[in-house]
Amino acid sequence: MRRPAAYVRSGVARRLEDLERRVPQWRAWVALLEEIEAGLDASAGNVTLEGPPRVADSAPAAPLLDGQTVRVDLEALSELLARLLKAAGREAPVHAAARSLKRYQPGGETVRRLIEAAICHDEPTMTAAAEADRVDPAALATVVRLVAVPPLATCAARLAGRIPEPWSCGYCPVCGSWPLLAELRGVERERVLRCGRCGTAWRAQWLRCTYCGETRHRQLGALGAAEALESRKAETCVTCRRYLKSIAALTPLRHLDLLLTDLETVELDVAAHERGYGRPPASGYRVTCRVAPA
Ligand SMILES: [Zn+2]
Ligand SMILES: [Zn+2]
Repeated sequence: MRRPAAYVRSGVARRLEDLERRVPQWRAWVALLEEIEAGLDASAGNVTLEGPPRVADSAPAAPLLDGQTVRVDLEALSELLARLLKAAGREAPVHAAARSLKRYQPGGETVRRLIEAAICHDEPTMTAAAEADRVDPAALATVVRLVAVPPLATCAARLAGRIPEPWSCGYCPVCGSWPLLAELRGVERERVLRCGRCGTAWRAQWLRCTYCGETRHRQLGALGAAEALESRKAETCVTCRRYLKSIAALTPLRHLDLLLTDLETVELDVAAHERGYGRPPASGYRVTCRVAPA
């Protein structure tokens, strides 16, 4: 049975409160997620996709957003960005980097460019925009990547039926990001990778490194509390020194649940980093797409 929206929302609110209690330094991040939760339901996610029809097998490794024009409700996204900048700015006394965001009010064309850069994983453009407007590049990039979540989620919903099966690349078949988590789904423990940016889910092979394709068992490992290893662990690869968290889930995680679960399992990130494993630095495939006003 489907849960009523109000029930789901109250569950999210409770988890956000728990997170804030557990790690007070995350208050800024929690405030941003609260705004994104509202943005996922609102017109910030209104998009139209335009692009040449995809010719089968012409570029089998290219994610579906590659070559598309994404028409967005720029006004709604500008408003969402303003709310996020305000939320981040409130934490300025705690996070020095957020101080520069406090009075930042980019115009419509800058917002469009920033969202396009976030979707295309174009870090140099984001950094140049931040430096030109004298704001902290890392803080701005964090906020802008979140603003891109609602339109990306809508793109993913529109394109879900066109994902090639099987999709054997490690990165997201819609937007090219590396997965945020692996879900071990249902009693069969099907391994499903999840994109944190657009929310896409795609099936993946067991005992194969998502990033480098390593399949030799002695190169692959798992970190986590012994009593919880079946339900939450960091899967590691000695060959590329990267890790991916995997979480048991009876039903598919909602998009915001993915972001929350990532925060709630930070002890796995700590364990992986302590042993010299890292997350990949950028996207698995840099898509080229254009963001335009609707
Ligand atoms: Zn994606
Ligand atoms: Zn690897």
